[in-house]
Amino acid sequence: MEASKTHRAGFVTLAGRTNVGKSTLLNRLVGQKVAIVSPRPQTTRRRIVGIVNEPDAQILLVDTPGFHEPRSRLNQRMVETARRSLSESEVVLVVIEAGSQLLEGDRALLDEVARSGHPLVIALNKIDKMPREHLIAVVAELGQTLPSAEIVPISALKRENLPELMRVIKPLLPESPPLMPQDEYTDQTERMIAAEVVREKIFLAMRQEIPFSTAVEVEQFAEVPERELTRISAAIIVERDSHKGMMIGARGQQLKLIGTKARLELERILGRHIFLELNVRVEKGWIDDPRRLKELGF
Ligand code: GDP
Ligand code: MG
Repeated sequence: MEASKTHRAGFVTLAGRTNVGKSTLLNRLVGQKVAIVSPRPQTTRRRIVGIVNEPDAQILLVDTPGFHEPRSRLNQRMVETARRSLSESEVVLVVIEAGSQLLEGDRALLDEVARSGHPLVIALNKIDKMPREHLIAVVAELGQTLPSAEIVPISALKRENLPELMRVIKPLLPESPPLMPQDEYTDQTERMIAAEVVREKIFLAMRQEIPFSTAVEVEQFAEVPERELTRISAAIIVERDSHKGMMIGARGQQLKLIGTKARLELERILGRHIFLELNVRVEKGWIDDPRRLKELGF
């Protein structure tokens, strides 16, 4: 009874190789779509905060771009962002996609986090598609190399064992009143969410390499009260003329599909009618241009 009077709050940074399910887990814990998800690596580009509000705790979950080889300046910014939020958080939640053993990338990250001295929780994700004997082997290996870490096997996708994960995280946070308004679930503006949702549909629709050099910039976001509508106009910024052609597709079919999917999802998230206009623009070199990256929020 005593413990329930204490309120705790703090930042918990999600870390882990790309594609292990960090953004999926964030959305599940928050109970809202906060971060976009795709089967491709490097979908997440910026630091996104999802807010979990419970009577006894407010957990500010920070989704980060994964750590990876920085090839472009955009990539460099992504890795810097991930490092910075690690250093600023109370608890680090490392997500590992469990195969039959740990990968080198997982070990390097766990080493880095362990050295930082932050309390460490390891979520072993995707247990829904993992043979039991692999699970047991990986838990044993982790327990041996990181005896002080909490290890929680989960399936973010199937919502398995997520309450247990919360139960483990909460006591690691400092006593504190809520740090953000308790009726909010993210630090992103609706404008940012709109750009991200369009980007997600591009990741899902386009061939391998194109999404990585594509950005979305919302140019207009306006309420039309008399029609109970929000009018959003966004530019899809690509690196090459050939990418522009593919993004638009024959008779504009591809762009139309991306636009329809993004609009439907945005209407669900924002809870109102949306008019979404997309256009595609070529900006050679945006991905390495410091000024442009800054304008785009990186
Ligand atoms: P991130 O790069 O770490 O943010 O990973 P995402 O959240 O974008 O997820 C990458 C892919 O893994 C997506 O296709 C997800 O649907 C999938 N995924 C995430 N969690 C699970 C899980 O628990 N089980 C399975 N089978 N797939 C998952
Ligand atoms: Mg992600």
